[in-house]
Amino acid sequence: MSTEPVQPEHDGGTLAPWQRTAAGANLLGADGHLGLTIFEEITALAVKNNAINLGQGFPDEGGPEEIAQAAKDAISQGHNQYAPGKGLPALREAIASHQERFYSLALDPETEIIVSTGATEGIAATLLALTEPGDEVLTFEPFYDSYGAVIGLSGATHKTVPLQAPSFEPDHAALEAAFNDRTRVVMVNNPHNPTGTVFSRETLAKIVELATKYDAVIVTDEVYEHLTYGVPHTPVATLPGGAERTITISSAGKTFSFTGWKVGWVSGPAELIAQIRTVKTFMSYSSGTPFQIAVAKGLGMPDEFFSSIADRLASKKDVLSDGLREAGFEVYNPRGTYFVIADAAPLLRGGRFSDGIDLARQLPELVGVAAIPVPAFCHPEGAERTNSLLRFAFCKTDDKLTEGARRLATLHDLA
Ligand code: PMP
Ligand code: GLN
Repeated sequence: MSTEPVQPEHDGGTLAPWQRTAAGANLLGADGHLGLTIFEEITALAVKNNAINLGQGFPDEGGPEEIAQAAKDAISQGHNQYAPGKGLPALREAIASHQERFYSLALDPETEIIVSTGATEGIAATLLALTEPGDEVLTFEPFYDSYGAVIGLSGATHKTVPLQAPSFEPDHAALEAAFNDRTRVVMVNNPHNPTGTVFSRETLAKIVELATKYDAVIVTDEVYEHLTYGVPHTPVATLPGGAERTITISSAGKTFSFTGWKVGWVSGPAELIAQIRTVKTFMSYSSGTPFQIAVAKGLGMPDEFFSSIADRLASKKDVLSDGLREAGFEVYNPRGTYFVIADAAPLLRGGRFSDGIDLARQLPELVGVAAIPVPAFCHPEGAERTNSLLRFAFCKTDDKLTEGARRLATLHDLA
C-alpha cells in the first residue's frame, strides 16, 4: 500500500497559494479560495508524476511496533470515547516525566500541560488565546507555514527577523530592533524548519532577555527536539528567566514517526495554559484517546530509543546532502530537523529555470523528485531573499534517497 498521504489537487485557481509566496496572506487568497498548504500541493505533484517525495516532512517508515501495538490494544480494549479535554492523565504525567528526564523541567501535569491535536492545534490555540488585533507577533523568517496563517486569523500583525545562510542564526541587533511595546508573542522554532538550524544558547538567551524587557510571551515549537546532530537541544524554558514566560509545544509526530496520529502537547505557566485550554476546547474539545494511550507509552521508552532517532537520520542526511552536492546544489548542513536546504543558484545560471520556485514546480515531472521551495515559508520580501533555495526531506528510506540523488544528478544536463 502506498505510504503517500492522500492529497487534493489544486482547485484550479490561476495561482497556487505557495506561488504567491506569503504563507499568512494566503489563507484566503485574493481569488477567494481557501489555500492548500505548500505540503499538500507538492505532495499532489509528486503523486501525479510518480516522483520521489522529498517535499512533505513525513517518514515513509512507521514508528516502533510496540507503540503501534499499544494503540491497537487500546482500541480493542474499548478506549474509544472522548478523552478529557486537557488530555488523559496518563499522557500528561508521561509528558511531565519526559520534560523532567531530558531537561530537568518540573511541570504540574494538572495545571501546566494540555494535550493538543498535533502541534498544529497547540500552535493555533496558543496564538489565538494570547494575541489580538493591535498586537505584534514576531517570528523568524523563513517560518513554518501555520504560524503565518494563524497570526493572520488572530488579526495580530506578523513581524519577522531574517535567518540568513550559511548559519541561519538571527542578527541580534535586528532581533532587538524588531521588538517594541506591542510585541505580545515571540514565536521560536528550535530546531528550525525549514533551515535545520539549532539556535545557539546566546541567541536563545537574547530572546529571553528581549521578551522580558518588553513583557512578551515566548512560544517555542520544539517538535524536532530529539532530532539534532551532534549538538544538544536546549529548551527555551530551561534558560534563566525563561520558564515563567514560555509556552513550549511539541508533538509525537516527529519523535515517534507517527505523523498521522496528531497528538501534541503544550506546557507552560498555569495561567497561560488555562487560556490556551479554553481556545483548544472549542477547536477540537479533545484529542484521539487510543493514540494518547500509545504516546504515553512511547514517552516512557528508554533513553537509547530517543538517542537512536537522530543516529539513524544522520546517515540519511549525509546520503541526501552528498547527492544534492553532486547534482550541483550548494548545501547547508543542518544541525537539526530532517530537512536540508539546498541553494539552486548554480543550476539557475543556465537559464532553464527562472528561480527556485520554478525549479520546484518542474522538478517532479522533469526528474521525478519533489522538494519544497523556501519562499513558501516567507513574506514577499523574504521570498526575494530566498528565491533560489529548496528544502529537501531526508526522513525517507535509504533506497529512495539513493534513487532520488541519482535522479537529481541528471539535472546537470537539463539546466
Ligand atoms: N511545527 C513544525 C515546525 C513542524 O515542522 C510541524 C510538522 N510536523 C508541525 C509544527 C506540526 O506538527 P503536528 O503534525 O504534530 O501537528
Ligand atoms: N511539518 C511537515 C513539513 O514541514 C508538514 C506537515 C503538513 O503537511 N502540514 O513538511
